[in-house]
Amino acid sequence: MKTESAPSSHPIGREWGALDDSVPRHEACSRTSVCYWHVLLAVGLFLTAAYLVIPYGLAASTIYVAASLMAAVGVGLAVYRRRSLICPIAWILIACALALATVGHSIWYWLDSRGLEPFPSLADAFYLGVYPLFILALWLLGRDSGRSDDGALSDALIVGTSAAVLGWALLIAPYVYDPNLTLLQLLISTAYPVGDLMVLPLILRLVFLHRSPIGAHLLLLAGMVAYLAADMLYAHGNAVGWYAPGGLTDGLWLIAYALFVAAVWHPSASVKPQSHASSTQLSSRRLIVLGAASVLVPAVILLTAGADADIVRIAAIGSILIFLLVMHRMAGLIRQTHQQAEALEHLSRTDPLTGAANRRHFEDALKHEIDRAERANSPLSLAFLDLDHFKQFNDSHGHPAGDLLLQKLVATWRETVRPTDLLARIGGEEFVVLCPDTSARQCQTVVERLRGAVPNGQTCSAGIAERRAGDSSDALLRRADHALYKAKHRGRNRVILADAAAATAR
Ligand code: GH3
Ligand code: MG
Ligand code: MG
Repeated sequence: MKTESAPSSHPIGREWGALDDSVPRHEACSRTSVCYWHVLLAVGLFLTAAYLVIPYGLAASTIYVAASLMAAVGVGLAVYRRRSLICPIAWILIACALALATVGHSIWYWLDSRGLEPFPSLADAFYLGVYPLFILALWLLGRDSGRSDDGALSDALIVGTSAAVLGWALLIAPYVYDPNLTLLQLLISTAYPVGDLMVLPLILRLVFLHRSPIGAHLLLLAGMVAYLAADMLYAHGNAVGWYAPGGLTDGLWLIAYALFVAAVWHPSASVKPQSHASSTQLSSRRLIVLGAASVLVPAVILLTAGADADIVRIAAIGSILIFLLVMHRMAGLIRQTHQQAEALEHLSRTDPLTGAANRRHFEDALKHEIDRAERANSPLSLAFLDLDHFKQFNDSHGHPAGDLLLQKLVATWRETVRPTDLLARIGGEEFVVLCPDTSARQCQTVVERLRGAVPNGQTCSAGIAERRAGDSSDALLRRADHALYKAKHRGRNRVILADAAAATAR
């Protein structure tokens, strides 16, 4: 049995077919090789096209059964081969569901070809068996797909409830009032749309769980939507009498099967869910979806109300307006929350006295810039600056004057550094300037300008260090600090370059 390496921490599923080094050869896509899931989807779509083109009969039905059987085997094989698949049990259930659908269709065709009435029949027992398996599989996938997320579940239920009402009005209500149906026919006919409507919120929840949709889940969603659409068309076509086997409705089921196989073979189906940012946040796009779902129910009331039900119509219109106003109000609240979050984020990274970046911001930036410089093999310099005899300044002019000087200093220095440099206050009268793509000598020029811009005739000392290959943040900071110490030691009001004997003095 072939095994996989540990799943990647990279969100490779964000883009369909995206690559990750830790994904084994046989499932990784590259420019030269085509992904398994692409090939399987293409085969499935080809078989669908063949089924639609060939006139309904033994050959077409054989293709249908072969395609659904291949889908069941394809999903089962993925569970067997892809050892790091997330929640394999869910995919086993989906493989079993596809196997049941295959048996169901074989029985259906056998009955139909013998002129026996295939509805309702044993075939329905197999077709209906698909739903509990789908429901359980989707539930398990959602459960194993990240943190518990009440927001995703309630969003899915809002959309699902709205779809259920619409589905009831369009699909179930006509059966309930059809006097020609026997009780068994009525129960079986309604069981399909009920199953569909139970599946829908679960698949939506899976997609809502993540801020960036996972490729495998999107394929699964597309497959489920195709499956539900086929069910609805079949239900409608059977009720009205236009359904005939071998048409687009059957084709949609086959497309669904192909999408299920593609989903399980998609690289993101084996990516650890923690690597995907889970989101309970209400984005404006999701708010629009929820708003549309909310107005759908009163819209159904409005459209189905009898001609004499004026009060019902008015209540429905009122509900639609109220939903829209509530959504508008929520959009305002969301905007406000986002603004507050941004303000909070800014505050947590800014020094309150001077408005310069604070130590936390600087430490993050330093790590980031070291990584970037390491990758690009570009220079990176760090200057450590400290005001000279600042205690004396405070003692003779008072602490508030000292504060004012620090504020003026930062205002002037901000104008002096380049936009790509980061000026941060990391202590009382201690500052750093991080200069990406800058050598120590170039940084010295920047620092000399800063020294010349210290207000109130005060001076400062500085130490500069340039990144060496493999330097950690601490190592770089230590060398700059050491150079500053030397500058102080040698009489202040000067710049010292770490590792350079030369010192510049005024
Ligand atoms: P050196 O040249 O050796 O750096 O001498 P110094 O006096 O600048 O250094 P020292 O570390 O002895 O004192 C730093 C002083 O900075 C002490 C404190 O009064 C002052 N200081 C620290 N934070 C603030 C602040 O937020 N506002 C004001 N006004 N003064 C501060
Ligand atoms: Mg000082
Ligand atoms: Mg100091």
